[in-house]
Parts: sequence; structure tokens; C-alpha cells
Amino acid sequence: MTKTLNFKQELTAAFGQPISENPTQVMVEAAYRHHNLDWRYLTIEVGPDELEAAVNGAKAMGFRGFNCTIPHKVKVIEYLDGLGESAALMGAVNCVVRKNGEWIGENTDGKGFVSSLRELTDPKGQNVVIFGAGGAARAIGVEVALAGASKITIVNRSIERGEELAALLDEKLPVSAHFEAWDKTFVIPDRTGVLINATSIGLFPGVEARLDFDLESLSSDTVVADVIPNPPSTNLVRDARARGCKVIDGLGMLVNQGVIGIKHWTGVDPDPAVMRAALEKVFS
Ligand code: NDP
Repeated sequence: MTKTLNFKQELTAAFGQPISENPTQVMVEAAYRHHNLDWRYLTIEVGPDELEAAVNGAKAMGFRGFNCTIPHKVKVIEYLDGLGESAALMGAVNCVVRKNGEWIGENTDGKGFVSSLRELTDPKGQNVVIFGAGGAARAIGVEVALAGASKITIVNRSIERGEELAALLDEKLPVSAHFEAWDKTFVIPDRTGVLINATSIGLFPGVEARLDFDLESLSSDTVVADVIPNPPSTNLVRDARARGCKVIDGLGMLVNQGVIGIKHWTGVDPDPAVMRAALEKVFS
């Protein structure tokens, strides 16, 4: 039997600026190859003034979906037909999916984080401390609350952003949340189950930076998570391991949000180990 030849690949992409150091393509295309999917994932530089044209271009060229990163996660909503539940709560989209001819915005960042957290601990009933109040902190806060955390403390440098996120979580989600200004060395409260860095401290090229908290107050029973994917071995990751804590690095979140995105686009549940191995190879 002759097989019909097909030279048209299914297209997915990342739109952002800056984008050239974003490693998502490596892990997504590793999954496509591993699962015999004739799909591509393109890394495309799109500036703020070009987002509408880029989204219209993706629609015109029949893309199956795309990721949005800095600075498009909020603005892209204007060009979509609908939002998933957590994207609506967060007011931010990182993954756009073509579903039955409609373009739906999802947020997989927080869900990816919670899947990697669950590999070490169940967030249900836990006291959680989150450093940061930007897009990553918002996505993580919403999903950790939906996963049943009992208390969330938002620690942030700018007061307005921190108070706004704590209020959103406290008022709209089944969790008790409050804000603490980060104007001095932070002392980790007793019985903190999970401590998360959701700031950009530690991101390349600022790899020497450290979060300003009292390392002596970190208990070895606390699970520590860092969102920084590049480099994955941040000072926080190393310091927490040295204290005997279980640790999740930024590749865990990156891989797991990618797993959820690929499932949305292709219907296939990709193998996270293949994706992580591809990332580790480029970062080694
Ligand atoms: P935003 O710009 O929205 O927020 C940045 C946050 O970091 C703010 O809370 C900001 O505080 C804080 N911050 C930055 N520099 C400092 C500093 N020197 N001291 C104290 N606080 C600081 O960024 P995002 O939330 O979108 O991204 C944050 C990080 O998360 C990035 O490094 C990104 O790479 C990572 N990320 C990782 C993902 C993954 O899959 N691993 C997914 C998404 C993001 P303030 O409000 O005071 O400015």
C-alpha cells in the first residue's frame, strides 16, 4: 500500500520579546519527535506593537496554537475568543489553543508548577510562602490555592503589587492570603510547608543574586521551589539542598507547563522525562 506523502507540518510557536534565550523549542520538539508527531515549534520574536498582526498571522496560517511570554501575556487576551478558568482568574494567558475553530487562552504556568510540586508534596492544607507578585507568582498563587493550600503569604518588594495579589487570592479563592512587605531580611514563619521563589532573582545573567531571607529560619521539612529555569541550579536551589530541604528547580515548572500545552494542542500526553533530558543537554 502506498502512503500519501505529506509535507505540511502542524505549527506551534512562542511569541515574545526578548525570546532568543527561551529554551522551550528544545523540549517541545524533543517531545514531538519522541511521539512521532510531524509538528514544529517556532521561537518567534514579536514586539508589543506587532502582537495583533502576529496573532492574525497565526490564525491565517492555520497554527494549532502558541505560547505567549513577556510582554504579551495580558494583551493577547484582546485577540482571543475565550479563556479557560484559571486564565480568567489570573487575567493572563501563556498558552493559546485552537479548539473547534475558536482561539482559547489558557494559563499552564501555575498548573505546571503544581504538577511538579506534587512530585514532592501535596499542597493541600499547607502554609505556603511566595516571594514575588508578578505574572509567575500570580499563576502559582491561584493554582496552589485551587489545589487546597490553607494559607498563602505573599512577600514582595513593591507594596501595591503584593497587596493586590494577596487580596485577589484571599477574596476570590478558598485560601487565607496576606501580604508582607519585603523591606528587610525575611524570616520564614514556623510550619511553612512550601517556600517558592517566583521573582526573577537568580535569572541569567544575574546568577550571583540571592533572595534576602534568613537561611537559619529555613527548616529541612520545608519544600523549596524556584521558578528560575536558566540556570536551573540557582543559589536558592543550592542553599536549600545544603539545608536538607527537598527542592524543585525551574526546569520542573517549565517541563510540566510544556506537558500541559502539548496535551492541549496535540491531544497526546508527552513524556516529561524526554523533555527534561533535552533541556538538561542544552544547559549542561
Ligand atoms: P514579572 O516581571 O511579572 O515579576 C517579577 C517579580 O520579581 C516581581 O514580583 C518583582 O518585584 C520581583 N523582583 C524582580 N527583581 C527583584 C529584586 N531585585 N528584588 C526583589 N524583587 C524583585 O516577571 P514574571 O513573574 O513573569 O517572571 C518571574 C520569573 O519567573 C522570571 O525569571 C521567569 O523566567 C520565571 N518564569 C519561569 C517559568 C518556568 O516555567 N520555569 C514560567 C514563567 C516565569 P516588584 O513587584 O517589586 O517589581
